[in-house]
Amino acid sequence: MKKIAILGSTGSIGTQTLDIVREQKDIEVVAVAAGSNIALLEKQIREFAPKLACVYDEEKAVELRVKTADLPVKIVSGIEGLLEVSVFPESEILVTAIVGMLGIRPTVAAIQAGKKIALANKETLVTAGHLIMPMAKEYGVPILPVDSEHSAIFQSLQGNEENKISKILLTASGGPFRGRKREELEQIQVEDALKHPNWSMGRKITIDSSTLVNKGLEVMEAKWLFGVELEQIQVVVHPQSVIHSAVEYEDGAVIAQLGTPDMRLPIQYALYYPKRMPMSGERLDLFSLGSLTFEQPDTETFRGLVLAYGAMKQGGNVPTIYNAANERAVALFLAGKIGYLKITEIIETCMEQIAHRENPSLEEILETETLVYEYIERFICK
Ligand code: NAD
Ligand code: MG
Repeated sequence: MKKIAILGSTGSIGTQTLDIVREQKDIEVVAVAAGSNIALLEKQIREFAPKLACVYDEEKAVELRVKTADLPVKIVSGIEGLLEVSVFPESEILVTAIVGMLGIRPTVAAIQAGKKIALANKETLVTAGHLIMPMAKEYGVPILPVDSEHSAIFQSLQGNEENKISKILLTASGGPFRGRKREELEQIQVEDALKHPNWSMGRKITIDSSTLVNKGLEVMEAKWLFGVELEQIQVVVHPQSVIHSAVEYEDGAVIAQLGTPDMRLPIQYALYYPKRMPMSGERLDLFSLGSLTFEQPDTETFRGLVLAYGAMKQGGNVPTIYNAANERAVALFLAGKIGYLKITEIIETCMEQIAHRENPSLEEILETETLVYEYIERFICK
């Protein structure tokens, strides 16, 4: 049996991970963590029988303890609980499927405890990639990408360990507002932005996909995962989401991974790497697709991508500023407190206003996050 722990078991990636567990029969879920959805978490505990479960919310944890009193599961809470799940002795792989910078400390703890990381939580690499990647190397722990584009790149790199990459082609669907101009985005409502054309995902990443901030975060994620220069990463808008990304080698050969848009494939590949396992579901039918199309990203309208390149070029804590500002701005947009275009405006203002720092430590990254939140609270939510 393969033993895994999941951070964010009730979310989009978390539940799809459990779909794979259900299908494969040789994976044991030994520990899980979620934010506050104890109704679903209780069902998961009854079905998968983990030995440890964390509910971040303290009060909900107390409630869940009562509800699961008949089961041999330990219920913990808060960041301490998340850390306990991350380093649970029996698990071999940690699936990081929580949203945001909250994932940093659990990921670091898991690496130091020698766990393989199936990484969905891209915000961790964006903000702390310069610490995480060398740490994973030091502890001999693989970081296995779950993000579909990065999994596609990872799959396209297999067997080419000795060959030089000349370029990474990172595909993007373009989101629900592809083709629109800036003035047309002024009045976008939360419901409009939550409709992704190809993928069904959590709320934050769906908004990020519509602003192209998600692609910006993915450029930074790719840089850390594959050790390439920023200039070697080309974003290609490909509305059908069939080519999940590709690698161009020195001889001009381009190797890509294609498939239907189904996150279970990259999750399963990360869990079983380097093995491919059978999987149920639709197969890619090129005839019914007819054609695949490609466009340049519209960086005038979607500032999120340009700002991400700027943040990465400046380095240090600037990607953290970019990411933290986005996390807070998206939360404000989802709460109906700011307009749609304000999201990238807030990111840009924070990148200008918050003090830059070179080579930040973990503490300095978390400090930067707090500074960004305080700045937004004082000057933008006033
Ligand atoms: P989601 O919102 O659907 O799920 C988030 C999960 O995290 C839930 O289980 C929630 O309970 C849990 N959570 C939230 N706050 C928590 C807390 N304080 N403590 C413990 N758990 C907490 O999100 P998602 O779409 O599954 O995305 C998860 C991560 O994966 C993100 O970083 C996202 O960018 C990345 N990702 C997602 C997809 C996708 O298809 N959904 C694709 C690529 C990458
Ligand atoms: Mg992706």
